[in-house]
Amino acid sequence: MFEAYRRLRRAFGPQGWWPGETPFEVMVGAVLTQNTNWGNVERALTRLKARNLLDARRLQACPPNRLAALIRPAGCHNVKARRLGAFLAWLDGRGPADFRGRRTENLRAELLSVKGIGRETADSILLYALNRRVIVVDAYARRVLSRHGWAESDADYDDLRRRIESSLPPSVRVYNEFHALIVRVGKAHCRSRPRCDGCPLAEMRPARRVDRPAGSAV
Ligand code: SF4
Repeated sequence: MFEAYRRLRRAFGPQGWWPGETPFEVMVGAVLTQNTNWGNVERALTRLKARNLLDARRLQACPPNRLAALIRPAGCHNVKARRLGAFLAWLDGRGPADFRGRRTENLRAELLSVKGIGRETADSILLYALNRRVIVVDAYARRVLSRHGWAESDADYDDLRRRIESSLPPSVRVYNEFHALIVRVGKAHCRSRPRCDGCPLAEMRPARRVDRPAGSAV
């Protein structure tokens, strides 16, 4: 997996994720990006920013129906307003400094206990807002890994996460870039119909598709 990372990094360069001016903006973006594309999230974030609401306390004080109207461009706005409300109640005005010294697995468990925060969202918050060494597994990662025979297409999220983490140097910077680069190659090449010609990972693709048996090492 590290060789894949090196090839992607060589081809695409550093991605500098996550797009967001502050850790709080990254957290809000991670909740809003569920089931939509980033362009829609950016529109919602721009509306919040224009009203000076990208602040934990001010956003928490925003009435739910107003919040829902403001984030409408991100889709499922009523559901996401409730999820944001639950997340803000958990955050309760705390910033990244308040989480220093907390164990990552405890923070992750707390995040996962918040209604509407799933594993991908929790891990995006941990990695990109709180600089924790956690890999984010998304549909692009699942697709690239299974097409190369590095994981089963239906592998459990945490199993896949641990496999990727153990195959990379233990570095927040590497984990950050790896996920961003996987998204980049997924958008540019590894679509539902793969465009392997010119893909930086083309030489690593097996001659024919391989489905690894459960439990194999990457
Ligand atoms: S497009 Fe082809 S070579 Fe590139 S990541 Fe997908 S399967 Fe691999």
